Amino acid sequence: MMTKALIFLRRALLPMALAALATACATAAPSKEPYIPAAYAPKPVAQPVTDQAADAKFAAFVRDFRATAIAAGIKPETYDRSMAGINRNPRVEQANLQQPEFVKPIWDYLDGAVSDKRVASGAQLLAADATMLQKIERRFGVQPEYLVAIWGIESNYGDQMGHLNMFEALATLAYDGPRADFGRKELIAALKMEERENLDPKQMTSSWAGAFGQTQFVPSSFLTNAVDGDGDGKIDLWHSPADALASTALLLANAGWKDPGSWGCEVTLPAGFDYADADIDTVKTVEEWKKIGVRRANGEPLPAGDVHAAILVPAGAHGPAFMVFDNFRAVLKYNNAQSYALAVGVLADRIKGGPPVMAAWPRQEAPLTREERIAFQNDLKKLGYDPGDIDGVLGHKVRASIRAYQKAHGMPADGFATEDLLVRMERDLAAKGG
Ligand code: CA
Repeated sequence: MMTKALIFLRRALLPMALAALATACATAAPSKEPYIPAAYAPKPVAQPVTDQAADAKFAAFVRDFRATAIAAGIKPETYDRSMAGINRNPRVEQANLQQPEFVKPIWDYLDGAVSDKRVASGAQLLAADATMLQKIERRFGVQPEYLVAIWGIESNYGDQMGHLNMFEALATLAYDGPRADFGRKELIAALKMEERENLDPKQMTSSWAGAFGQTQFVPSSFLTNAVDGDGDGKIDLWHSPADALASTALLLANAGWKDPGSWGCEVTLPAGFDYADADIDTVKTVEEWKKIGVRRANGEPLPAGDVHAAILVPAGAHGPAFMVFDNFRAVLKYNNAQSYALAVGVLADRIKGGPPVMAAWPRQEAPLTREERIAFQNDLKKLGYDPGDIDGVLGHKVRASIRAYQKAHGMPADGFATEDLLVRMERDLAAKGG
């Protein structure tokens, strides 16, 4: 069991540990959030094997997967040409197996994703590419500022698209490890994309997770959502922003995007608000939220009453609150992380001249270590809740368990994991002799 003393010791060591982490990141795989659909969330890490054994296993995979690819309709010569000379990529492997010591708090993530510099560049591009963006809006019904925001967050407007060989990256994910199913599916999709678009496999570059181009599509998403935006008869998501942004618009339209309509807005919550209701799955009409005293933070009116909305408090009861609409859910189809969808919404608003988030984030909360996150899960389990797998990932089940614990102890049920809450649970367990 983790003791309070250990937590305090860890606090003292935190700056040092963070410095070490920053150094490690500078030489490691892309710092961007991996673009992996939730269905392929990492499973527990396998035991490391020797390099030699791993090389042999990789070579066997490349040899054996050929039949799978051919059965999926890929020409043998396409496979041989694309897979020739590729190796197990240690950088991809490292990124794939990484279990972060610290998970970035949402305010730090937003500081980076929605920096003033990115807002300024986005506003410039919104004006410079207005004609192209309006054409896409007429065609697919997605407002320009959202497309520019996704472009900014995914690749810093085409500046960071990943430069690994896509086949090497995907084969490294596919041959072994927690994302093997994802890697295999996307490897087949990449080969199909190469054939369909007559691409040179050596020119097909991606991030470690196989995401590529201006808006970081994965190959399977390309096959269903990519379109020619600039009308030159080809679809090139690497070199043509018009193609990439039109494809992004189609993806959002397919995910249910409605124009007009925003992602959501910052709100204030009334005294006595039941934080158990601040959950993406608790949907009410705007009228119902208004009745209990929810108001827009900037004083402007909320949208007409029959719009469906959920309330989110991504940093708990002591941070900002947001009301999110159906378009927020469409962004979650692009990348299923609420922090990502929030960043897209806030950046889109700011690109159009809107203000930053108004309420203060609880920046004094130290990020939980992996050991603390696992302690959270273990303690919740010992206290009779169901936090799911003990894997150090604070997902939906953990948040639900925390809410239940908070409710049972008369605390605001915001589901937000803090060190103080961990200390309190440890005390409860000690009192019970657990
Ligand atoms: Ca094109």
